[in-house]
Amino acid sequence: MSAEFQHRKTLTIPARYGKAVSLKKGEAVQVINTYGTQVVDCWAYNEQDVSEYMCMEATRVWNQRLNPKVGDSFITNQRHPILTLVADTSPGVHDTFMAACDARRYELLGCTEPHRNCHDNLFEGMRELGVELPHGNLASFNIFMNIQVQPDGITLKTLPVVTKPGDYIVLRAEMDCYVAFSACPQDIVSIQGQGDNTPRDAELRILTGGFPQVSLQGSWVPA
Ligand SMILES: [Zn+2]
Repeated sequence: MSAEFQHRKTLTIPARYGKAVSLKKGEAVQVINTYGTQVVDCWAYNEQDVSEYMCMEATRVWNQRLNPKVGDSFITNQRHPILTLVADTSPGVHDTFMAACDARRYELLGCTEPHRNCHDNLFEGMRELGVELPHGNLASFNIFMNIQVQPDGITLKTLPVVTKPGDYIVLRAEMDCYVAFSACPQDIVSIQGQGDNTPRDAELRILTGGFPQVSLQGSWVPA
């Protein structure tokens, strides 16, 4: 299926590092879990004005779901669609709740030396594109991350990923945008798959066509 996609660029997100891409409206990015074990944090920004960014809380209102399914869009802090999930070969387990890891998180986990983290990777990835973000954002879309709501309906459980090697999602750009990714460096809390909790590379492909055409859904309005 993947082979039918037309792509113009392939990039590796090295384990523990970040990468960002620039997408034109109508292009897409394929995020491939090469080893099947990696959590990949994701952020998106309007290319014309980076003060408009992908917003998890507005996205949950729009979709009325904790996590997106194929056909759902991600919404900005100005409530415009910025990305749409158009394909997902993984079991569909992702997370919109957990804050991206940052330097302070690792201090709190007992690290006495600096630890690579997703929040710094966001800035590093964007800098490679020549963009200096005015401020950070802990509210990432955590691709492949397995956060399970417990039967009491309010408690969250943090679990390792459940993807297979080569599982991927495809996110279509609904506006010209930057999309930043981090191959999460978390190696203390057990979130990476298959037991050893070692961060690994993931792969990005910028797609120009051949991916499923899914129509844009409107925002949820009470019946
Ligand atoms: Zn992280």
